[in-house]
Amino acid sequence: MTYDYDDTNIFARILRGEIPNKTVLETDHTLAFEDIRPQAPVHVLVIPKGRYVSYDHFAREAGAEEIVDFVRTVGEVCRITGVALDGGQGCRTISNAGAHGVQEVPHMHVHVLGGRVLGRMLEPAD
Ligand code: AMP
Repeated sequence: MTYDYDDTNIFARILRGEIPNKTVLETDHTLAFEDIRPQAPVHVLVIPKGRYVSYDHFAREAGAEEIVDFVRTVGEVCRITGVALDGGQGCRTISNAGAHGVQEVPHMHVHVLGGRVLGRMLEPAD
């Protein structure tokens, strides 16, 4: 089985510079930017620059350098936004995938959410 990546997805367009974003941090392999519809006072999306659909795709096919860069960038976003536990009050990092994960944008991303108590992790499904 292979993963199908759609180059027209909105994060691919952000990476190509076709639409603007509010960048929090950029590295060689990773971009972090503010979510356009924030669900908490801190809501940052962290995406690899490579063409990966989901976390499982990224974990399987990305190189070690990309993976280390991504994980470190998530940590750095936590520090920059003040939610890291070395002084902050914590956060939630989540990655939705596919239909059951209710993924809206089919480019691998991690949400960093914080700045308030976030409640339980899952609401009951409708
Ligand atoms: P997901 O449901 O995990 O795929 O989440 C996709 C996220 O992307 C949502 O939280 C959207 O608010 C966010 N989003 C969609 N378009 C943009 C955009 N142009 N800039 C920033 N965030 C976006």
